[in-house]
Amino acid sequence: MRIDIVTCLPGLLEGFFSESIVKRAMDGGKVEVNLINLRDYGLGKSKQIDDYAFGGGAGMVMMMEPLVNCIEEQRAKRIYDEIIYMSPDGELLDQKACNQMSLAQNLLIICGHYKGIDERVREAYVTKEISIGDYVLSGGEIPAAVLTDAIIRLVPGAMNDETSALSDSFQDDLLAPPVYTRPADFNGQKVPEVLLSGNFKKIEEWRHEKALERTKERRPDLWKKTL
Ligand code: SAH
Repeated sequence: MRIDIVTCLPGLLEGFFSESIVKRAMDGGKVEVNLINLRDYGLGKSKQIDDYAFGGGAGMVMMMEPLVNCIEEQRAKRIYDEIIYMSPDGELLDQKACNQMSLAQNLLIICGHYKGIDERVREAYVTKEISIGDYVLSGGEIPAAVLTDAIIRLVPGAMNDETSALSDSFQDDLLAPPVYTRPADFNGQKVPEVLLSGNFKKIEEWRHEKALERTKERRPDLWKKTL
């Protein structure tokens, strides 16, 4: 899988992609993440990428021309499954959408800034708009990092233990059960007996029960889906 990220602040993402699971997936050749500096497509000497909003009001808007030139250049090199714009008014990101996107070959992600990007870029090029939650951040880089991390950890071979991602919260519309590690007794706080029993079937049953309990308690909205 290849993920290209268009950003005017690549430095914000470089650190993120040089650590962790993402880095391992990249080193293992499973995933390639490529940062494209929008500034390189900026106009004139000052490499301008933003301008005043038509109609007035506070806040700049990211101009069409640098974005279009940048997107066109990438599109000439490969076919994208999706051209994604990170935006608070997009589809709310969830596990199902991540699962689906993890099957893609090529993704292009656009990070906005200021008041956002010129609407005409969205109309002409963007195939998917994604929000990471009902709050506004100052740029699309953190949302793009969230999306990329959530997708990459689902790519087979990216994580140490592939099956692990499948047992995380939301994979079956349930929250994950509690987890424990050594020691089995920490100053009198004990690990549930069943987990030490070695009885795999019982352990699975216990985990499922706890997942149900937790979902019912904390996320009645998800719980309704499982009924
Ligand atoms: N004026 C816009 C917000 C712009 S915020 C509005 O009210 O909808 C600047 C940029 O940050 C956006 O273009 C987008 O790329 C990114 N961004 C901010 N919050 C986000 C969120 N919740 N999800 C995804 N991207 C977000």
